[in-house]
Amino acid sequence: MKKTITTKKQGTITAASAHGLLYSIVPKDLAGHLYQVTLDIAAPDAAGQVVSLPVWIPGSYMVREFSRNIVQIKASSDGKKVALKKLNKNTWQAAPCKTTLRITYEVYAWDLSVRAAHLDQSHGFFNGTGVFLSVHGQEMNPHVVDIQRADDAACKTWRVATSLPELKAKRYGFGTYVAANYDALIDHPVEMGDFAMATFEAHGVPHDFVVTGKVPNMDMDRIIADVKKICETQIALFEPRTKKAPMDRYVFMTMVVGEGYGGLEHRASTALICNRTDLPLKHQAEMTDGYRGFLGLCSHEYFHTWNVKRIKPAAFAHYDLQQENYTSLLWLFEGFTSYYDDLMLVRAGVIDEVAYLKLIAKTINMVTRGSGRTKQSVAESSFDAWTKYYRQDENSPNAIVSYYTKGSLVGLGLDLTIRAESAGKKSLDDVMRVLWQKFGRDFYERLLTGKQQGLAENEFEALVEATTGVNVRRFLDRHVRGTEDVPLAALYADFAVLVNDGNANKKASLGVRVVRDGNDCKIANAHEGRAAHLAGLSANDVLMAVNGLRLTAADAADSLATALGRYRVGETVQIHAFRRDELLTVQAKLQGDDVPALSLSIQAPAKGGSVVRPSFQKPGKR
Ligand SMILES: [Zn+2]
Repeated sequence: MKKTITTKKQGTITAASAHGLLYSIVPKDLAGHLYQVTLDIAAPDAAGQVVSLPVWIPGSYMVREFSRNIVQIKASSDGKKVALKKLNKNTWQAAPCKTTLRITYEVYAWDLSVRAAHLDQSHGFFNGTGVFLSVHGQEMNPHVVDIQRADDAACKTWRVATSLPELKAKRYGFGTYVAANYDALIDHPVEMGDFAMATFEAHGVPHDFVVTGKVPNMDMDRIIADVKKICETQIALFEPRTKKAPMDRYVFMTMVVGEGYGGLEHRASTALICNRTDLPLKHQAEMTDGYRGFLGLCSHEYFHTWNVKRIKPAAFAHYDLQQENYTSLLWLFEGFTSYYDDLMLVRAGVIDEVAYLKLIAKTINMVTRGSGRTKQSVAESSFDAWTKYYRQDENSPNAIVSYYTKGSLVGLGLDLTIRAESAGKKSLDDVMRVLWQKFGRDFYERLLTGKQQGLAENEFEALVEATTGVNVRRFLDRHVRGTEDVPLAALYADFAVLVNDGNANKKASLGVRVVRDGNDCKIANAHEGRAAHLAGLSANDVLMAVNGLRLTAADAADSLATALGRYRVGETVQIHAFRRDELLTVQAKLQGDDVPALSLSIQAPAKGGSVVRPSFQKPGKR
């Protein structure tokens, strides 16, 4: 490919013929949240070029219909209009033309999440899945993108952060970038704005840490010092000998908001959203829950650089972006990533073992809260992610299990099992390394020739046995394909970790989760078989009074707890509630609070130093 663009004008025909596919994207209307995209196709399909937008973004398993944000779309060639026929919700076909086909469209970008696109006077962010049409038949060709500065005084000082390789652009500058194919084009999100940024190296690879949004007095030095340790720990986990990272550079792009949490993984970057209060301040030395959670998020998305971005289920080896892609393995790709995210924090030394065990206990308590875990296995939960986990409703705690949280306990349980049965010689780390060597290391090189491979649906069990000598069939039958709880108390006993049941003092409870709704106390979830359910109450009912006394406190949960605190388990109370606008009066027999409150502790710490438990151990020290 030529390394020159003949003109700076948006998407010129000359440039397109040099590059085959040239996208130009410009923030056109900041206040109206519109990107203008121009796509020049130098050699359109003689039968009429078909283009489409993905219906989902890899990493977030839900059909999102990004094409609904395309406001207007038209086609031309040689300055003349070309008919564009819509074939279905996200696909168009242009009339046949002999010279470069130009498709122009606007994209409405007002979704402040990591999954779509956002644009206003403060910044722009987009994922390729939301803004770049794929050109059918040319998906494997190089895709050039001209990222243009908005014609607006507010954008004079904007910079660009992306892991897309530059073609003719300075690092952090506007200009042309290039992706090897469409799969790569949509896997390098772009942030533009007046962001804060710091750069560090992890085992020789440059990492940019970009923060968009106002955080007065943020301690960026502390953040990058901690994140660097996490990155180096992970690189060394997968490549203990060479310490070779799978990418040439990496970009963390963080959007800071008043209230929000989430992240999406990519092959050489991640997009994160966090609370302003999660980030540490310069005069603040302690480890807050918010900052620990933020580091866990960074760790999680970074771990995906190996696990799911390169080691993939076979179903994701070639994404079908037109529809759901089914796999029953998300308990491994999301669950193990959730297991390792916190484990990497303790191995990197950014949290201690006591804090780590608190996080594990929190996960166990979350998993055991819902009866859905007795009905759906994590394999089923993975398969149904598209319609169940990603489309949760008020009944979800009674119907489904999370392949994240229970999947992380499966990872922990397998790790402890392998360590115990191999007498400490092997661990889940060895399994991850074999997965990496077999599927991950060369994934994108093989993709270029269509020879990429992913983990088959039933391959894991044999791979574990071949790697560690431990047969895990029974474990998987019970806890992955079946719905049994992972027996962590028994498994942890071998490692001197005590599991303490914290439910000794049961308080009188209705077995509901309530939320504040205006001045009302509304039931968010009514747990199956619990007092409220048995009395005839359900989610969305507004609780008005307990034995004639109105629930009034600002915090719904406190208000209900205070009201129920007057009674003992087994007593019956009268509840007044509204369902829509109709008053309900029911008698509820209070039950003991079933909120799990289990905790973990280390038995008999070793003298003079930290207790290095097998599952916390650093690679190479086994
Ligand atoms: Zn994840």
